Amino acid sequence: MALVVQKFGGTSVADPQKILAAARKAIARQQSGHQVVVVVSAMGHQTDVLVDLAKQITERPNAREMDMLLSTGEQVSVALFAMAIQSLGHKAVSLTGAQIGIRTDSTHTKARIRSISTDHLRKLLDDGSIVIAAGFQGIDQHGNITTLGRGGSDTTAVALAAVLDADLCEIYTDVEGVYTTDPRALPEARRLPSISYDEMLELASLGAGVMHPRSIEFAKKFGVKVLVRSSFKDAPGTLILSAEESTPRPASGVALAKDEARITLDNVPDQPGSSHALFSELAASGIAVDMIVQNVGQHGRADISFTVPADDLPEALDRSRKVATALHATGVSHDAELAKVSVVGVGMERSEGVAGRMFSALSHEGINVRMITTSEIKISVLVDRKDGPAAVRAVHRAFGLDAENGDGTGDAGGTALVKSSPLDVVRRLEGMEDLAIEDCQLDSSQALVTFTDLPDTPGVAADVFEEVGRAGLVVDMIVQSHPRDGRAEISFTVPAGSRDRAIEVAGRIAAARGARVADVPHVAKLSITGVGIRSHAGVADRLFKPLAEQGINIDLVSTSEVRLNVVVAAEHGQQALAVLRGAFGLARS
Ligand code: ASP
Ligand code: MG
Repeated sequence: MALVVQKFGGTSVADPQKILAAARKAIARQQSGHQVVVVVSAMGHQTDVLVDLAKQITERPNAREMDMLLSTGEQVSVALFAMAIQSLGHKAVSLTGAQIGIRTDSTHTKARIRSISTDHLRKLLDDGSIVIAAGFQGIDQHGNITTLGRGGSDTTAVALAAVLDADLCEIYTDVEGVYTTDPRALPEARRLPSISYDEMLELASLGAGVMHPRSIEFAKKFGVKVLVRSSFKDAPGTLILSAEESTPRPASGVALAKDEARITLDNVPDQPGSSHALFSELAASGIAVDMIVQNVGQHGRADISFTVPADDLPEALDRSRKVATALHATGVSHDAELAKVSVVGVGMERSEGVAGRMFSALSHEGINVRMITTSEIKISVLVDRKDGPAAVRAVHRAFGLDAENGDGTGDAGGTALVKSSPLDVVRRLEGMEDLAIEDCQLDSSQALVTFTDLPDTPGVAADVFEEVGRAGLVVDMIVQSHPRDGRAEISFTVPAGSRDRAIEVAGRIAAARGARVADVPHVAKLSITGVGIRSHAGVADRLFKPLAEQGINIDLVSTSEVRLNVVVAAEHGQQALAVLRGAFGLARS
């Protein structure tokens, strides 16, 4: 018999009427022949109310007691939900996280799930009950109640869907699905009928905010199909699934991260170990670094720039200054007023001129691009915070996201239940939320081209990549480091076979702008892909450290939610691959 997990967020269970309406949805699912597990959040803004109460007692509530307090919100809503179903004449049982057997680690207020036992759930389901599970909570090995971090009910729902091998996990919420960008900020935004896990991950932690990013990591890892849909409108919603099952588009969405701060260490000796020194220090203080850009460097020195959430700037700056002194860098600069705009699409790799299109849209608005990083499915630029909304609008329009798919009422195919391949449930239970590095790959087929001394003015990146695109060059990685003294540096990789063309085009571009071009005919690009790269602090350093220990210098770095890319000298490619496979516990292939 098919099994569906339905999750109702706070707004969907905000009052008794809404709870009754949600209960009817669960009953309807069961009557269409499914076993149903319902996961609920606390009613309305109840969790905020509880947080506020604690703050009125003490500025620093004890984390264990905080979890004790916060978990009560969901205990109220599950009980009421079960009563609602019973009052409508059907069988229901509510369970807390502990009663289900959701085991977590002991990191109070942001615990990670370790395992979930399914026996009790299965018995109740087989007995014909709808099981109402409290979201967001679990229990540690000592019996303490834990919570999974704000918004954690999504993670509970997807995790239950994973261990129960559910056919679908429906997320009922107050929006109609996943949009091409935040519809509150841009009315032209449209609902997407479907989106892949990776796109969603790249968008989610970038501020698209529809679902808890950890829940998507879970979904990807266990192949759980997720359907995000409105509680209040009978609309098709957005189906989140694997890249193979989704429609590849050069751009699926545009995201804005409003509160970015940048730090740059100037003139760090370009030698093995510099990045490791910096990022291990940051990881030790639990700061999650976002964009990392290291330029190609001149005269044996390179600049390393990275971004952190603006709130973490003071701490990150302290740590960076300490490392800068130790490394004899010549200075540390920062900027607190930045925003990151990203365009994401799984079809990006196969389309030409995507970068040019993005940069020229920004250039037409007179927006200066301060830093660029790319992954296979994402291009991110750092701009002044005040330019963020205009940048999103321009990029959204440039990719036709407001027009594509007509009125956007396409069907997600959400009710067609396609069973994913059965997985070994027992294997899934161990360390479900651990960082999972899937693969490390070496690509030795590319050449690296670098412009130095480009003028740092709006439109430069656009000019470069429009011209590169016109020349038919397929660009892979693009990195623009933080400009210094009014000059910018942009590097990109192309297939080695296109190197001559690239040099010729680049030479022309450079000559017109007083810039210089350097190139490396063969480089080695190493890509680490996986789940949890962004949400686990210090992953980047796990890559820098072994390379440093082997004396392998890093020429270029770029990061994203699901990938870490580094470029090293071609002759170090195989060695770097072996070292990284070892460091991440991957089999040699
Ligand atoms: N009630 C919790 C919160 O507000 C968990 C959730 O809603 O997902 O963060
Ligand atoms: Mg919520």
